[in-house]
Amino acid sequence: MSHLSAARENQAKSIISALEKRNMTGHYCESKEDCVSLILSLMPEGSTVAWGGSESIKECGIPSALQHSGKYTVYDRSRYVTPAEQKEFYALAFQSNYFFMSTNAITLDGELVNIDGAGNRVSSLIFGPDHVIVVAGMNKVVADVKEGFCRTRNIASPPNTVRLNKNTPCAVTGKCGDCMSPDCICNQIVITRRSRDKDRIHIILVNDNLGF
Ligand code: SF4
Repeated sequence: MSHLSAARENQAKSIISALEKRNMTGHYCESKEDCVSLILSLMPEGSTVAWGGSESIKECGIPSALQHSGKYTVYDRSRYVTPAEQKEFYALAFQSNYFFMSTNAITLDGELVNIDGAGNRVSSLIFGPDHVIVVAGMNKVVADVKEGFCRTRNIASPPNTVRLNKNTPCAVTGKCGDCMSPDCICNQIVITRRSRDKDRIHIILVNDNLGF
């Protein structure tokens, strides 16, 4: 194991301890493959499952693993295309047993920092699905909430707005212009400092770089 990898593992374990006091459950995985295996072991057969827009979830291969397992009722957001279908998806995701997402940042003390344009992803994090599984590469770790804000708007948003073909300052300059654009993806900025319900929010830290 490289020195960087060993240090990241130590850091993940510290974050998992910090998550405990916030009533959230932390897990550590050495690889994307271990992450998928863990997820399949956590979810009982017959569960309903959905996910928010996330490069990390895709890079781990979670959608295809869930579909190919044949054990779950999967609401695949890519199949809900029209506005009416998307509305249906949001309702199904809200009621699902498991909702998957990543986080734009996680602090060393276990707080999650997330931005959202429409709000469906952060709303499911806050309330609705029985369980939320957050998959985060160690590239998402920041020192504190202030650094989390900085990361979300200057590291995560520029590639996301380019990916989504948004007309925002960060898509052009690579840094936040604190815009009020119709295309803004930072309409909601949410800090999750604690889960009210035990066993609702699980954070899986993966010793890899995932997403933006
Ligand atoms: S506020 Fe606007 S410019 Fe800043 S990161 Fe968000 S979308 Fe980009």
